[in-house]
Amino acid sequence: MNSASKNLQEKFKELSNITYTAVTDFSKCISCGTCVKYCPLKIRVFNSEGKAITIKTSKSCGGCSVCFKRCRQNAISLLPINRKSKI
Ligand code: SF4
Ligand code: SF4
Repeated sequence: MNSASKNLQEKFKELSNITYTAVTDFSKCISCGTCVKYCPLKIRVFNSEGKAITIKTSKSCGGCSVCFKRCRQNAISLLPINRKSKI
């Protein structure tokens, strides 16, 4: 195996360990409920302040981006996380 393909393999391995989770900017969230309604995994809920958050369940957010695309306030970011991390 030459070094270029070895580097490529290592890059693929690194990327396969990365997933995404939806994070809310509370200063932008207007509590409209759109992300809560449309999240296919039903892991978007309102917190005690009425802001939408992603909860941790056995179904982890893989960053499908439905909430990200539907939020008209641009309040949601997809944060890259390492699958092996505990975030
Ligand atoms: S769609 Fe955006 S503004 Fe509406 S509840 Fe979700 S994060 Fe908040
Ligand atoms: S990215 Fe997809 S799975 Fe994750 S919270 Fe948003 S809608 Fe739900």
